[in-house]
Amino acid sequence: MDFMKLLTPRPGLRVLITGGASGIGLAIAKAFVSTGARVHVCDVDAKAIDAASTVSPAISGTRADVANKDDVKRVFEDVRRELGGLDVLINNAGIAGPTGGIDAIDSGEWEQTIDVNLNSQYYFSREAVPMLREATDGGVIVFMSSVAGRLGYGFRTPYAATKWAVVGLAKSLAIELGPDNIRVNAVQPGIVKGPRMEGVIAARAKQLGIPYEEMEKQYLAKISLRRMVTQEEVAASVLYLSSPAGSAISGQALSVCGNVETL
Ligand code: NAD
Repeated sequence: MDFMKLLTPRPGLRVLITGGASGIGLAIAKAFVSTGARVHVCDVDAKAIDAASTVSPAISGTRADVANKDDVKRVFEDVRRELGGLDVLINNAGIAGPTGGIDAIDSGEWEQTIDVNLNSQYYFSREAVPMLREATDGGVIVFMSSVAGRLGYGFRTPYAATKWAVVGLAKSLAIELGPDNIRVNAVQPGIVKGPRMEGVIAARAKQLGIPYEEMEKQYLAKISLRRMVTQEEVAASVLYLSSPAGSAISGQALSVCGNVETL
């Protein structure tokens, strides 16, 4: 058995990554490209797409809001043209949503969080599944959940609710699509190093009226490995799930978090 080969996704894999022009999505795009995949990203940020497509000629992109059904249809027209089919869908785009008590959260912000983090996942899955049924060696869907989809997360209720919902979607779709040789899993990043997490920590610090450094210390104390994880560690888990080594894994939620014990 050639385990090195098993651990690498097949070269030429056709991959669509939502919110793929920066952050974790871009790290996943770069990881796939390094294995010889062709990657299409969609993102609301046109400038970030331009920057991402300079990383490699194997990355193409569409400017689209994942919460807009018409935009999603356009993304798939571009995917058909650019990739000619689809083997892997990475439903990565997501927003942090508001921080605050349930009686303080603005209903517009609540709805926007549900639209971007959950409804979009339905729009993309619905369009992708007919293409994934035709995938060369079976299709793969990875939903980006969060450790907030494994643990309760006070004062971030819309975010946590959507990230738990994504796990339910992944587990249910795994049952629905397994007979079509489509594997569906969720990845649950913990506290990922980068500007997004800095914003989350800053918002929580402000809400509690404590300095940023003190808040960061409190976050790390709840992680068994006592450190944040990197975008590349999250990308590596997505590659693993999309590689032949992951060929028997479906319906699972994989936490990549250094074991966050509580939020
Ligand atoms: P990010 O804020 O860096 O955003 C990634 C990309 O998504 C950006 O390029 C942004 O423009 C795009 N995007 C945002 N809203 C969009 C929309 N409506 N339509 C299209 N594109 C949109 O996010 P990230 O930190 O890279 O997180 C990626 C995913 O991982 C999210 O689903 C997030 O919830 C999840 N996650 C992140 C962390 C973390 O600590 N960063 C932890 C757990 C889970």
